[in-house]
Amino acid sequence: MTAGYRMLIGGERLPASTGAELPAINPYTAEEFARIPDAGPADIADAIAAARAAFTGGWRATPGVERARLLHRLADLITEHADEIGLLESSDNGKLLRETTGQARFAARNYRYFAGYADKLHGRTIPLDSPDTLDYTVAEPVGVAALVTAWNSPMQLLANKLAPALAAGNCVVVKPSEHASLTTLRLADLLGEAGFPDGVVNIVTGGPRAGAALAEHPGLNRISFTGSVPTGRAIAAAAAKTLVPVTLELGGKSPNIVFEDADLDRAVTGAVAGIFAAGGQTCIAGSRLLVQRSVYDKVVGQIAERARAIRLGDPRLPDTQMGPVANRPQYDRIHGMIEEGVDAGANRLTGAEPSEDLGPGLFVRPTVFADVDNSARLAREEIFGPVLSVIPFEDTEHAIAIANDSEYGLASGIWTNDLTRAHRVAAQLVAGTVWVNTYRAAAAQAPFGGTRQSGYGRERGLEALHEYLNTKNVMVDLSGQTPDPFAIRT
Ligand code: NAD
Repeated sequence: MTAGYRMLIGGERLPASTGAELPAINPYTAEEFARIPDAGPADIADAIAAARAAFTGGWRATPGVERARLLHRLADLITEHADEIGLLESSDNGKLLRETTGQARFAARNYRYFAGYADKLHGRTIPLDSPDTLDYTVAEPVGVAALVTAWNSPMQLLANKLAPALAAGNCVVVKPSEHASLTTLRLADLLGEAGFPDGVVNIVTGGPRAGAALAEHPGLNRISFTGSVPTGRAIAAAAAKTLVPVTLELGGKSPNIVFEDADLDRAVTGAVAGIFAAGGQTCIAGSRLLVQRSVYDKVVGQIAERARAIRLGDPRLPDTQMGPVANRPQYDRIHGMIEEGVDAGANRLTGAEPSEDLGPGLFVRPTVFADVDNSARLAREEIFGPVLSVIPFEDTEHAIAIANDSEYGLASGIWTNDLTRAHRVAAQLVAGTVWVNTYRAAAAQAPFGGTRQSGYGRERGLEALHEYLNTKNVMVDLSGQTPDPFAIRT
């Protein structure tokens, strides 16, 4: 049976005004199981107008303590429904149920974290040179924000944006990916149940056309985007025309570096988690594994063995370790990159076996390429799938040079028991995140984001809040004197 979902605009649950729809396809069964509205420019304009009306109509003046209460209530509801949300998301994008359920709970944690800030958004009183002038700042919401997300972790990616945006007092228009919109549309029910006023959060669905109509609209005050580099560029170009500030969370080709003194068991587990968890469909995937020459053969042997042993199957079952990849375009892209690597002579250690025996799902076997040159396409381009490129290095300087020789700068990992080396390398890596003796760890409090082609701006942590606030400075003359109109007052 195919369920029909509706958008959320100004508190109403609506189809696209043209009636257009897109299918939601379960990548494990390869079957359509729901339909979502395919919004057009008129729907997008309506959603932005609804957000603006809600902002000026009361949300802007809603006390922080009330925003905090609503955010906590939303977090309660997400936690209560975490199993259901996890199942829906797993059906939509093929990720393991235990991961999607965990991500729903992590999303709830994010809403709580930012709820804690909602009633603490104060400015500063600033002493000036002149004692006769009172100067203070006010932290104000920016207004209406567009939040556009990718398909790999819809609930979590949205929480990274929506929680600080609402805590700061903004209204929003959300657009999830056309490949995985269902949990975001389900969230619409929970937002209503939590008591958010109509129009504070609006949710539109559709593909690139809907996304572009949103990004180009002059009625926005901020755009926050998670997705690919080409789309990030298109959004930044659109926003340049309207002068709307943008946050971009884009891709990566993150180096995960194993030094010879590391606890190799832990390092190998970290390498497996870095690239094969979530089938490698995470922006932070440790897709370049840099291994010191002296332990190279040992580490590569263990990784290949672990990769071959990964259990692929139904993402809902507790002993499955990797589900299918999320959608057909992604499946085709991953296979294309693997085949191109093989054709170029790359040393593929695992992943060549066919996957038809796993059923109709979009399965890609965990694939390890050894002895990859950092200049090869396999080492330079984000694949966003379970494909690892292992690269040997000689010493610390060599590792840093290879790690930083990339267009990207999102995440990185260091495996060493040498404290000095850990901090020295962490200081030299060009990346928004450095993990030491761990990988893929995340916290609501810890800022996350990239540099170079991985984007700009930060999510989570206090930094995220500032993406959704403007600072207003107020100067008050206390002297009671009439000034010289032609002189600057300092
Ligand atoms: P994508 O760029 O194809 O799509 C992302 C979103 O943008 C979707 O909602 C899509 O409909 C919308 N969109 C497409 N064209 C648009 C346009 N012209 N204007 C406005 N919106 C448009 O990305 P994807 O395939 O959904 O996601 C995979 C990418 O996301 C990978 O590159 C991955 O690294 C990145 N990602 C980054 C992070 C991070 O936090 N840095 C997290 C997850 C995923």
